[in-house]
Amino acid sequence: MDQKLRIAIQKSGRLYDDSVKLLKDCGIDVKNGINKLRTEAENFPLEIYFLRDDDIPQYVEDGVADIGIVGENVVFEKNRRVTAVEPLGFGKCRLSIAVGRKDDYTGPKYLEGKRIATSYPVLVQRFLDDNGIRAEIHEISGSVEIAPGIGLADAIVDLVSSGSTLFMNGLKEVDTVLKSQAVLIRNGNLDEVKLALLERLLFRIRSVKKAKNNKYVLLNAPNNNLEAIIRLLPGMKSPTVLPLAEPGWSSVHSVISEDQFWDIIEQLKAAGAQGILVVPIEKMII
Ligand code: ATP
Ligand code: MG
Repeated sequence: MDQKLRIAIQKSGRLYDDSVKLLKDCGIDVKNGINKLRTEAENFPLEIYFLRDDDIPQYVEDGVADIGIVGENVVFEKNRRVTAVEPLGFGKCRLSIAVGRKDDYTGPKYLEGKRIATSYPVLVQRFLDDNGIRAEIHEISGSVEIAPGIGLADAIVDLVSSGSTLFMNGLKEVDTVLKSQAVLIRNGNLDEVKLALLERLLFRIRSVKKAKNNKYVLLNAPNNNLEAIIRLLPGMKSPTVLPLAEPGWSSVHSVISEDQFWDIIEQLKAAGAQGILVVPIEKMII
């Protein structure tokens, strides 16, 4: 029987949609797993397990799954022997310290002797040790943000993305313990066949990530300023230049990275470029 790579992803929750979308973008069809714990991809030797995110590092360490997608926060908290192979660019959040909106947080020392509620006792303890602080950690598994309001804690350490949950509970974010995003992890002892499958998957993941960070740009350039316009465009090798039917004009095609995007577009306009089209790229193979 041909070997399949087994991947563990979150069954439902914040990472589910993006995990499935990433696999789909990699050309891997995942049948809806809402009431299923396991499914097989049809067009790639991949078996998908749907699990609670907390359990994924252990399953990967034990080799029940070969690879997994999980937040770095969970990877570090669970402290399992797994290897992080690729950051995935979604599930971004911070593990942050929050205190009452009126409390006067002066820095980590503020936590000395205080009670801290969190679902991340390992990471919080490490933070306290690093800062030479002794405090009492109350581990709770959810709704951490209500702990100060009901007198259970003086501060919390919890995951934050926008901060609106904290705000609604009368808290303010004052320090960050860890920045996190979803990562692909793998078991440390994969055989050659599985490693080769992982390489194929990683190649696709990296192509999808690159494509997401880049845009394809087409524009019309007056020939008398073509040189200057080309200099603004990086392109994969160099931009493509084609003559337009109208004399004196050329069509220029190139690829621009997301972070330089608006800067370059403004400069292109200033240099006389017209009819600028910006197109998303689906895959980028370099
Ligand atoms: P499960 O039932 O699988 O245990 P969960 O309730 O522990 O799910 P979710 O709230 O779905 O977990 O979050 C999963 C992951 O999403 C987190 O571990 C974190 O990496 C990431 N994440 C991104 N933004 C946030 C946020 N604002 N709050 C919580 N988690 C976030
Ligand atoms: Mg969880």
